[in-house]
Amino acid sequence: MIPALEALARLRDGNRRFVTDQTTAPALSSQARRAALLAGQEPFAIVLGCSDSRVPAELVFDQGLGDLFVIRVAGNVVAPSQVGSVEFAAARFGTRLVVVMGHTQCGAITATLEEILGHATSQSRNLSSIVDRVRPSVEALMSGRRNEDPNALVHDAVRANVQASVDHLRHGSELLEQLIREDGLLVVGAEYSLETGVVTFFDGASETG
Ligand SMILES: [Zn+2]
Repeated sequence: MIPALEALARLRDGNRRFVTDQTTAPALSSQARRAALLAGQEPFAIVLGCSDSRVPAELVFDQGLGDLFVIRVAGNVVAPSQVGSVEFAAARFGTRLVVVMGHTQCGAITATLEEILGHATSQSRNLSSIVDRVRPSVEALMSGRRNEDPNALVHDAVRANVQASVDHLRHGSELLEQLIREDGLLVVGAEYSLETGVVTFFDGASETG
């Protein structure tokens, strides 16, 4: 399995191809590739992203079959099943990079903000379970900012929510903690820009060239 920083460089390169319209992914999803993968998979990165139809991880990183182990849930929140999915891939396949990827204009973040501001209509219990996971990080940054431009709040809230998910994965699992401590597992946050197509990586993701 390739080390985390090498995996990160691979994602950066893929996103660069995506942004400049030089994608190679169709060749990476060929019948030959599908056949080769019958023997098993070795995804080089785990991506926890939002379900938003405009943010498919394989496309924005220009990757093909077998490359990424992707978990998608509205608001890229971390509940036990997401932790379990990351544990599974890290332990079973030896994948050493985990990326939590939020995105600009995220509907789950906006919905949470509206609820906090008292503008929201009532939601189902299931949808509330997502909003409730986003809420703490949004509330924390909203103190004293209630009258600010909502777009600025959403911008900051997206990043705070990514950081909360990163923290949860780094500290909410004994298995992942051990892999981080002893085995080079790296959990990093990132934001995809709907406007530019660029993925920006946050702390712990220094440039690797
Ligand atoms: Zn979203």
